Amino acid sequence: MKAYSGWMSKYVVFVLLFCPLWAVAQPNVKQIGKGLYAYVSDNDSSANSTFLVDGSGILVVDTGLNATEGGKLLRAIRGVSNLPVKYVVNTHYHPDHQGGNEVVGPDATIISTDFTRERTLALTKVPAMESFRFRPANLTFEKKITLHMEDQAVEIFFSGKAHTSGDVLVYFPAQRAIAMGDLFLNKSSPAMDDGSVESWIQVLDHVLQLPVERAVPGHFEVGTRSDLQRFRDYLSDLYEQMKALKKSGETLEQVRRDIRMEKYSDFRQYPKYEATFSENARTIYQQIDDVR
Ligand SMILES: [Zn+2]
Repeated sequence: MKAYSGWMSKYVVFVLLFCPLWAVAQPNVKQIGKGLYAYVSDNDSSANSTFLVDGSGILVVDTGLNATEGGKLLRAIRGVSNLPVKYVVNTHYHPDHQGGNEVVGPDATIISTDFTRERTLALTKVPAMESFRFRPANLTFEKKITLHMEDQAVEIFFSGKAHTSGDVLVYFPAQRAIAMGDLFLNKSSPAMDDGSVESWIQVLDHVLQLPVERAVPGHFEVGTRSDLQRFRDYLSDLYEQMKALKKSGETLEQVRRDIRMEKYSDFRQYPKYEATFSENARTIYQQIDDVR
């Protein structure tokens, strides 16, 4: 356990204080393609989900914060189909994305990266997490899984460190749609865990090379391709400004004062959760080791 102590204490603070606590206007289930639905959570502490009804079963991406949120999601799914939930994909280890696994998919195959499973197992040993009943993945992978369902294939892949060090994206080629986990928040500064913003931008560039028209974010309303592009541009713009300011010798305090984010004035800011221009700048400042 000793090896976990550093990130664990950081993680507990992260989860309890600022990861999932977002304000969302209304609950919403929206069809975004053939058999494919986005569930935008109405609870300010629970993530969005995506589900695909295909042939004889259902695949669900992320299950909400806990049994209550999982139950709400399951009712929404049952409003569309009574087929069994065969697969659950967890985009990453934060509880607001996987706390409903047991309720939504008691008999489902749970899929995640190796990293996410490791972190989830470690969470089960954290006293502050006792009230969560995690169901870690029983099918893990390092880079990519293609799930061949009855009517179509679903691509589940890890493209590099981003929001965490093990986020997956779930691509639905037939619907030109993608479930992004917390790699995309629509019109908002994101919270940043122990990932990499440089790599995060590259992952978003990779996604934008796909013919994606709909992107389900970890929180907030479903995005279009241009929403996703704008979020990518926000991260890139901030990253480039930080590199230049740091190269000029500015301190962290000066850099946080001198960044220019007017183009993103409509982005949600959550100082309480460290999801602001200034806090994102701090994280990036700390991530830039070598100024190129
Ligand atoms: Zn998260």
